[in-house]
Amino acid sequence: MVNPNLRILIVDDEKPNLMVLSDLLQNEAQITLANNGKRAIEKAQELQPDIILLDVVMPEVSGFDVIKALKANKLTRSIPVIFITGLGDVKSEEKGFELGACDYIQKPFHLGIVKARVKLHLTIARQCIMLEKLANIDPLTAIPNRRKFSERVENEWAGAKRNRNPIVLAMVDVDKFKQYNDQYGHAAGDNVLTQVAKTLQTQLKRPRDFIARYGGEEFVIIINETDQISANAILEKCRSAVQNLNIKNEASPHACITVSIGAAICTPSSNISANALLEQADHTLYQAKETGRNKLAWSA
Ligand code: GH3
Ligand code: MG
Ligand code: MG
Repeated sequence: MVNPNLRILIVDDEKPNLMVLSDLLQNEAQITLANNGKRAIEKAQELQPDIILLDVVMPEVSGFDVIKALKANKLTRSIPVIFITGLGDVKSEEKGFELGACDYIQKPFHLGIVKARVKLHLTIARQCIMLEKLANIDPLTAIPNRRKFSERVENEWAGAKRNRNPIVLAMVDVDKFKQYNDQYGHAAGDNVLTQVAKTLQTQLKRPRDFIARYGGEEFVIIINETDQISANAILEKCRSAVQNLNIKNEASPHACITVSIGAAICTPSSNISANALLEQADHTLYQAKETGRNKLAWSA
């Protein structure tokens, strides 16, 4: 049975090779063929195949040129490439690996071996994608974790600095959560964190707005390309949406689960770091706590 979610791009300037390889793999995946290097680069970008079988010796754009172009483009960088080539010398094989190929198969190839290697590299690629996901997701709430936040804030900060755009960082902390756990149990507490995470995430409508679990019962939000009035409206929605979940918490002065939010805004420059802005947000969070909780406060 063809797996319609798997796509293999086969590149060779000689039609008989394309036919043999596509016959071999047609029961495994959707096959796309390209008979020159230029077309291979276009197809790779357009289709985002799961793996590419790439000939080396082709007129005009060679396989080595193709892989260089693929690795230079963010969209195609991580697609595994297997060279299938008549070049049997060790130097070419070494070059193929240096340029980022995951495997190198010499012609004349043995069909069973090609199939086995393709399957092996598809499995490895799938596992890499899964690992990458697991490394970036908080297992309890299924939103991004602190590791992902660190990566994201660095990118957003650099972009905001380049474009001279303001950026907002906000720390969100569940109020009186220790007592909630003590009274209702840790499992109920876990459930609250999951609901709060989902509710906060739902309030962030623009694709570049970002939330992560920072740790414990704390979340961090990035709002980019904004002004204080718009960001205030979004964060105020975050605060009220959690309150509107109406989850009973007797220990809280508001009788239900609420969050306090500390926010800080700036236009990044060499005078301030993302960490410094985050510290401001964290400091402001404690002002929101001290002045009654279930509040959004802005750093002066
Ligand atoms: P405040 O309003 O000042 O923020 O009070 P608080 O009780 O929320 O703050 P504190 O920092 O004293 O307690 C945080 C609590 O969050 C303690 C800890 O047991 C709980 N917590 C942290 N991570 C988890 C988690 O993954 N699951 C559950 N159920 N509880 C957690
Ligand atoms: Mg806390
Ligand atoms: Mg708390």
